[in-house]
Amino acid sequence: MVSPRDDKLTTKIEDLRNSLGEKTSRKLELDKCNRLVKRLNILSSECEKCYQDFIDLEKHITELADKTDQLTKTDFKQHSQKLESISSHLLKEHKLVSKDYYLSIYMSLGLSIGLIFGLLFDNLSLGLPIGLGIGVAIGAGLDADVKKKGKII
Ligand SMILES: [Zn+2]
Repeated sequence: MVSPRDDKLTTKIEDLRNSLGEKTSRKLELDKCNRLVKRLNILSSECEKCYQDFIDLEKHITELADKTDQLTKTDFKQHSQKLESISSHLLKEHKLVSKDYYLSIYMSLGLSIGLIFGLLFDNLSLGLPIGLGIGVAIGAGLDADVKKKGKII
């Protein structure tokens, strides 16, 4: 179920992607941008901040689209700050998680534990991969779970 408002902005982002090319689009994280738009649109009926963020993002995308051939470093910086601030609101207030969030946490946790045990038993070549393996298994499991619940940004 996509509302026209959401649809319009998604189209705008796709237009932007077409005129900027793949490389710049990736730099601007337009995929993430699209996902944020969908989230904000769904949440704006119940959250004032999301509502404001949506309008803000809409204005921002329109501005970018107006000057695609003359984007400056400042534009890129502003853009990533905007995405960052929207993401952090979604993470904090709406209990969403970013993609591979648990995987990255448990991978480094697994590595640290593997390191400790590796040092303890004087066998790093065994400790590290076991720690990493367990970390990946737990992290990937949790990620799959939040994905199933539709909690990934
Ligand atoms: Zn919100």
